[in-house]
Amino acid sequence: MADKEKYNQSIAKVFDILTLGQNGAKHVKNFEEYDSGGINTLVDAKLLKKMPENARIVLSYEVYQTLNLLQKHTTKKDNEHKFLLSGKVSEGTIVFDDVYANVGDNQHSAGFRGQSADVASAFIERAENNNADNNVIICMRHTHRNKAKYQHNFSLKDMVAYYDTRETNASFKSRKMELISCVLIEGNYNFVFYDENANDFFKFTNVQYITKYGQLKSLPAYTEKGQINFLKRYFERDD
Ligand SMILES: [Zn+2]
Repeated sequence: MADKEKYNQSIAKVFDILTLGQNGAKHVKNFEEYDSGGINTLVDAKLLKKMPENARIVLSYEVYQTLNLLQKHTTKKDNEHKFLLSGKVSEGTIVFDDVYANVGDNQHSAGFRGQSADVASAFIERAENNNADNNVIICMRHTHRNKAKYQHNFSLKDMVAYYDTRETNASFKSRKMELISCVLIEGNYNFVFYDENANDFFKFTNVQYITKYGQLKSLPAYTEKGQINFLKRYFERDD
């Protein structure tokens, strides 16, 4: 199938971007050490380059509340939950003010395939129709369960899915709209952007939300919190 072929090309491309880049040798070592099943291997986020200082993500209060709820459900139900965000980019600041999320998901692995692909298409189309200018940005991905060391990172599969959507969806490919991706884990808001000019992935370290009183507050991004909590629980359990 053509789609499958294209997806396989995306796997090869993302693997090349990571392993042939500046931190290539370290990515290779990481993949060898922590290989948990090929495509599900987790990418060490410490090795990803950072976005410039002025690049900032701001979540509206509603979006923040929804994502917070998703993370609570993830911990409680031990399931991944997928979500979509839409918003606008202006001078380095991305403001997300619309969200789709389904807390009723009941699966260990959440993606946008099958019926969910239609939901994603409808959401993207709505964002496109609601904004006549060209500053629309979409974010897609899911929460992670804190089940393993490095689980606070994207998996190789997550990065491939992001890259593949960007390459195969006409709105993103034509640059009419921008697409970024995000993995949420235990309070961490880990956003990533693929820059086709640099041919590399970049992480956002500046993430904020608007409180109900209209103030801006910082959110954790790419901290080691998830890993520390995991280790803490691991040792507590063994006692
Ligand atoms: Zn994932």
